[in-house]
Amino acid sequence: MKTMNRRSFFNTTALAGLAATLGGGARAGAATKTVPVPDRPAELNLCLQWNGIPGGGMNEKLDFLEANGFTAVELPTGKWLFDNGGAFQKAIQGRKLAVATACGPSDFSYADKARREAEVEKFLPQLEILGGLKSVGLILCPARKNVAMGFRELRDDFVNNTGRRLARHAAKHGTSIVLEPLRRGETPFLKLVADGASIARDIGEGAAVMGDFWHMAQEETSQMGAFLSGGNLLKHVHIASLKDRKIPGCEPKYDRYVDGFRGLKMIGYRGAVSFEGGIPKGGDRVKLIKAMVIYLRDQWAEA
Ligand code: MG
Repeated sequence: MKTMNRRSFFNTTALAGLAATLGGGARAGAATKTVPVPDRPAELNLCLQWNGIPGGGMNEKLDFLEANGFTAVELPTGKWLFDNGGAFQKAIQGRKLAVATACGPSDFSYADKARREAEVEKFLPQLEILGGLKSVGLILCPARKNVAMGFRELRDDFVNNTGRRLARHAAKHGTSIVLEPLRRGETPFLKLVADGASIARDIGEGAAVMGDFWHMAQEETSQMGAFLSGGNLLKHVHIASLKDRKIPGCEPKYDRYVDGFRGLKMIGYRGAVSFEGGIPKGGDRVKLIKAMVIYLRDQWAEA
């Protein structure tokens, strides 16, 4: 992100002062000049999670993504990655699809050090596979519902030990760990994008953060503010309908993403916006996915 030099700051400040004397319309126009300008404009890169992509075979799923305006794909972790990573690498060659993240359960808050160690060991080889796929990163949650460590102890251990080791290993293989803040019912530990960004910053190389509109709808005081706090460390976004965590657009009364999208535009976000949620009972998955693409593009244009 470009930072304003002293001269342009003063020019903007002078403009804002002038606007204050001119009234509301001019004031609103000047206020936008104080927002940081990204080096490159943001892009909406829509993405689906592997198990939610229509189609049976690997190529059928990838064909569906390309034919329907998606530019990224999100993979499962664990057994799927070990069993299918090689075949997937071949299937994605020559396609205009980026490998966003891989998503699966994680927890580094066990009281037993050996269990925390086992959790690190579990993910080290998966990071190597993801690096080979040029994936953005591995989504991790430092803690889930039952946090057996004190918060300070857990943060220190994650920043200096478990999370750091995974992040460094990720960086070595050309990928990253991507911290996901959740809702309070799912974890009391990491709920805000700003907190995830601060943990990622403290870890340093190989660590990033993401935002999930579903979690953010309950936890954040400002969607735009949350994404601004993520800044350059924001590498992934999950999206769902905001009332029931279904596909965006099926509850249009609640599904407003414009404020968050404005934040993404301000930071020049070009990562994936990936649908993570359900399909309403009896709904036609293909039809609903096509409608979601239009729905989200409209709100991105409005932002
Ligand atoms: Mg999520």
